[in-house]
Amino acid sequence: MGKYPQITVNHEALRSNMKQVISWCRDEGIDVAGVIKASTGMASVALDYEYCGAKWIASSRMEQLQRAKADGIKLPLMMIRVPMLSELSEMLEICDYSLQSEFATLKALEEEAVKADKKHNVILMADLGDLREGFFELEELVDVAKYVEDRFDFVHLAGIGTNLGCYGSVMPTKEKMEQLVAYAEAVEDAIGRKLEIISGGATSSLMPLFDKEMPERVNMLRIGAISLVGPQEDLRTSYGRKEVDVLDEAFTLEAEVIEVKTKASHPIGKLGVDAFGQKPNYKDRGMRRRALLAVGRADFGDIDDLVPQLVGAEVIGASGDHTILDIEDCKDVIKVGDVVQFKLKYSAIMRLTSSENVKINEVDRLYGIKL
Ligand SMILES: *Cc1c(COP(=O)(O)O)cnc(C)c1O
Repeated sequence: MGKYPQITVNHEALRSNMKQVISWCRDEGIDVAGVIKASTGMASVALDYEYCGAKWIASSRMEQLQRAKADGIKLPLMMIRVPMLSELSEMLEICDYSLQSEFATLKALEEEAVKADKKHNVILMADLGDLREGFFELEELVDVAKYVEDRFDFVHLAGIGTNLGCYGSVMPTKEKMEQLVAYAEAVEDAIGRKLEIISGGATSSLMPLFDKEMPERVNMLRIGAISLVGPQEDLRTSYGRKEVDVLDEAFTLEAEVIEVKTKASHPIGKLGVDAFGQKPNYKDRGMRRRALLAVGRADFGDIDDLVPQLVGAEVIGASGDHTILDIEDCKDVIKVGDVVQFKLKYSAIMRLTSSENVKINEVDRLYGIKL
């Protein structure tokens, strides 16, 4: 009892996606950093990535990387949110790689690394117009790179990277990738050697790869979403990528029905605001059969991130702890105690895997690490 709501992790589907993505990248000479933040850093997901051939395990959260390490992940760990000054000493213990965009942080990192007697690799981020993290001016990027190269003994300049399509919705076009390589080569001219890594972005940077437009020197992508969530809507619908042939069933939500009744579809009485202070529009569709589920926005966030698998069912609303499903058009008879299933979009997976109210049910997971 008390098994629901539950998120099921289908590790076989996950590994199938990871293998596909890693083989796409390998064909173009690109190594994959497996990003685990969408699944709140589950070590079993990191293990899938390790098994499928990722070269790094990456996350934006130190807690998740720490857990991966404690649970026995052997791959080098990479911190992909530019680190806080306050977490540098912890980062040195846990991670071998990090993305960086501040001179002050790099200086503090070198100091800490000297104290800890620990080497650490950095990838300097170039902001190519998406306007989140990264050096905005090439000149500053080159100056800082040269400083790291000439003056630091423990912090090693491993490469240059960028991130696109997160804040500014900027697409990772061929031109942007070529600009990244040009930046890397400007750094190489200044330091007098080749960089090991040119990190071309996240899932969205698979687009130039599909188009065979990825410059040869880009040799790392940091991939999370497409392996975990499946065919990404942004790749598929916005950019019409039919070739995004991966499974969308790695994570599913199962929730239990706690009430089934036929009710009016329009609220009755003088309307104010809902549980979240909003004034939704309610459509009057007459009397409709509906099921109430014991799961809510406290668990998954937004109803748009749930895709009901029950044919004919529609999610019509949710409050913190309840979700309302219109089941008038369902062929199946739904009754109290039934369990209904949903496929999930990115942020629902992120929230459900971090909610203490949601049980995690792992299917076909690999063994060999502490979990
Ligand atoms: C989240 C993140 C990624 C992975 O993005 P996906 O879209 O999940 O593939 C890569 N790089 C950075 C810096 C990130 O924050």
